[in-house]
Amino acid sequence: LNRRLAEFGTTIFAEMSALAVSTGAINLGQGFPDTDGPEAVREAAVRALRDGRGNQYPPGPGVPELRTAIAEHQLARYALSYDPDREVLVTAGATEAIAASLLALVEPGDEVIALEPYYDSYAASIALAGGTRVPVTLRPGDGRFRLDLDELHDAVTDRTRLILLNTPHNPTGTVLTRAELTEIARLAVERDLLVVTDEVYEHLVFDDAEHIPLATFPGMRERTVSIGSAGKTFSFTGWKVGWVTASPELVSAVRSAKQFLTYVASGPFQYAVAEALALPGSYFDDFRADMRAKRDLLSEGLTAAGFDVYRPAGTYFVTTDITPLGLADGDGFAFCRALPERAGVVAIPNAVFYDHRDAGAPFVRFAFCKKTAVLEEAVTRLKSLA
Ligand code: PMP
Ligand code: GLN
Repeated sequence: LNRRLAEFGTTIFAEMSALAVSTGAINLGQGFPDTDGPEAVREAAVRALRDGRGNQYPPGPGVPELRTAIAEHQLARYALSYDPDREVLVTAGATEAIAASLLALVEPGDEVIALEPYYDSYAASIALAGGTRVPVTLRPGDGRFRLDLDELHDAVTDRTRLILLNTPHNPTGTVLTRAELTEIARLAVERDLLVVTDEVYEHLVFDDAEHIPLATFPGMRERTVSIGSAGKTFSFTGWKVGWVTASPELVSAVRSAKQFLTYVASGPFQYAVAEALALPGSYFDDFRADMRAKRDLLSEGLTAAGFDVYRPAGTYFVTTDITPLGLADGDGFAFCRALPERAGVVAIPNAVFYDHRDAGAPFVRFAFCKKTAVLEEAVTRLKSLA
């Protein structure tokens, strides 16, 4: 294994899902729904397969039906207008979109700022691109993980090439506010930075929180690569359909890298996702309402079990602080390794998403994209810890 990848080992999601299987524990670790997306969308995939649409290589940028549906979604939701032919690219999940964006836009030695804790593929993709990651730590305060804008300002140097943003944020559940995004946009314009923004949880925001795409801010459309995923929005994580929207220059750059990673992927599923994006607004409302109820169930259950809970404003993850439990010396990693045997539940130690591991040590993430009965059983088991 080369030096760029040596530090990464096996992804925590594979490790923890394997532990769930071997111990028979409830898997609230890896973020995947235990209920598949809409029947009508599955039927659309079957029809595409049967009718021979997408069984051979689809076009490099993605099938026209899907690119058009993505552009219509951005326009209807956010008043963002993208040309489906020049400004939309379909990828093998958001994961490929992130990797291809970094490979295309980062020169060896460039600095890439990422909000810490960061989704694990960010660090590996920055490394593959030969970039240097510069973490800016989200810190707890007022019941949420907050971005310190001064720290973000201070992180920018003459070698900063881009900011890799994520809102709604995995694993903390933070949704960046209009004020925070305004500052990020101002900084990007002032220092002439690109921003790659991972917005895969765009439809999972709760209560008063609002998802505002960074590309809608002044001066940002031409310097922002926005990323979405059908895995998250329609609960088909196995289909690996993601997308990029950006200016023609940026899309063309990302496509240059993407064509040598997978060339294309997910042929028949692209047609199905095109239909999914055209589902009525009630689909998105119901999905959000369902996840909000599950968030409340799990957040309240974890509080009752003795955890400090950061109730998320978005995503399907809840981050907790295990300190009050007085277990595993407050070390989230040790806690998660022991949890399947101890309580029959799997969770993810947030420390793996930090460069400053100490800053993340006591935090543990639970996924709530699971059936109500599964969450209830998990809560019952976790209450036995006390
Ligand atoms: N970004 C974030 C923040 C995620 O949580 C995930 C999924 N865990 C991805 C990207 C990857 O998405 P996909 O499955 O579409 O590759
Ligand atoms: N994004 C999912 C999570 O955060 C996992 C994706 C994966 O396993 N690579 O849990």
